[in-house]
Amino acid sequence: MRRIRLAALAALALTVIVPSAVPHAQPAQVKALVGGTLIDGFGGVPIRNSVILIQGERITAVGQAGTLSVPQGAEVISTEGMSVLPGLWDMHVHLMINGHADYEHWDKTYPSQFESVIMPASARQLLMAGVTSARDLGGPLEASLSVRDRINAGKIPGPTLYVSGPFIQKAPYPGTELFRWGVDGVADARGKVRKLADAGVNVIKLIDQDQMTMEEVGAVVDEAHKRGLMVVAHSHRPEEIRRGLAFGVDNFEHTGLSSAPEYPEDIVKSIVERTANMSRGPLYWTPTIEGLFNYEYLRDNPEQLDDPAWQLGLTPEIVKDIRDSIRTPDRLPYFQLTPIRRPTLARKFKQLSDAGVVMLVGTDSGIPMKFHSSSTWRELDAWVNILGVPPMQAIRSATYWPSVAMKVDKNVGTVTPGKYADIIAVKGDVLRYIALLQRVDVIVRHGVRHK
Ligand SMILES: [Zn+2]
Repeated sequence: MRRIRLAALAALALTVIVPSAVPHAQPAQVKALVGGTLIDGFGGVPIRNSVILIQGERITAVGQAGTLSVPQGAEVISTEGMSVLPGLWDMHVHLMINGHADYEHWDKTYPSQFESVIMPASARQLLMAGVTSARDLGGPLEASLSVRDRINAGKIPGPTLYVSGPFIQKAPYPGTELFRWGVDGVADARGKVRKLADAGVNVIKLIDQDQMTMEEVGAVVDEAHKRGLMVVAHSHRPEEIRRGLAFGVDNFEHTGLSSAPEYPEDIVKSIVERTANMSRGPLYWTPTIEGLFNYEYLRDNPEQLDDPAWQLGLTPEIVKDIRDSIRTPDRLPYFQLTPIRRPTLARKFKQLSDAGVVMLVGTDSGIPMKFHSSSTWRELDAWVNILGVPPMQAIRSATYWPSVAMKVDKNVGTVTPGKYADIIAVKGDVLRYIALLQRVDVIVRHGVRHK
């Protein structure tokens, strides 16, 4: 990007100055975030009275009042009294859904509005919740790429997206062929992954691998790795995890195993063998645990379902349809087993942590009653206040580690000079009260202030 722009400027200097090009020729104004306590994402002691200088899309300097001065003419944004931190990541979202309880109805009714209305609305809601990067795990190919690219081009607001496009699985469920691709044999498995890679997806989402042949699973993972794409796989059932581990899946999604009390011993052993192998890098796991913990609370205290924040960008017709579908939260089939699963979650989370996986914050945002406007902070809150994860560690699982997992840590994930200015600030001390993240006061993505 930068090189192209400089080349364009050089060309302009040699030719006639076009009036419309003049604004681009002026140096971008410096922004300065001044005063707050900075949690930079590396995990060390926060920096008090911080000063962060931003020019264009990038952070140019990070320091403290008194030692790093703010240049004359800079736009000063006070962060006094605030925690300042890297923009959040959500590693498991579904932009094509918005909390509606009936997938069959949704998949029949709204595909024509995915690309134009629904996915952009989801993206915007995520950004306004302080999520500046998100991984979309399952959606129609063209729409996913189009929304990602429009955000990157600055045409619509949203987080930087890493998209999988369609799920890769043994066979799509009837009526879901638009965003689920079936795999029949090794050649087909390789072909489908190649098609996604050629189209430009960022990651391969693999599910139901326990229904594939071993050769098919191996082909999917191998082809993805050959193309430099990580494979993110479901871990709902024991055999999905076993096969994923056997074939080198990089990242598992969900705690899984339904209401079973814990992961079987052989699986824990295989995870430990994998995490012990340093040369292969960390094994990532996105437990997507908040919705399971909070369902009963939400069922009995449904005021949050009326929050206008989840309606941002949606048409009144869509909002009404969603509202109608979740009018009786206690009756949704999707959640009937959840109270029986809930008591097993802490044990499973502990087994994974003890086995040495690197946990990532992701939420399955978009599933029934789970809105893009509030999923991410709730996941962090569940980790800290229910599971006892230290707040700094939870924040790193939503900032630093996702950027490493997606191999973009040179550009995002921490507040560091040279990286993109993806920064949020929130009144109060998030290390003491993590739930403050439900109301983010300042949101900057790639140097542009959105709040
Ligand atoms: Zn999901």
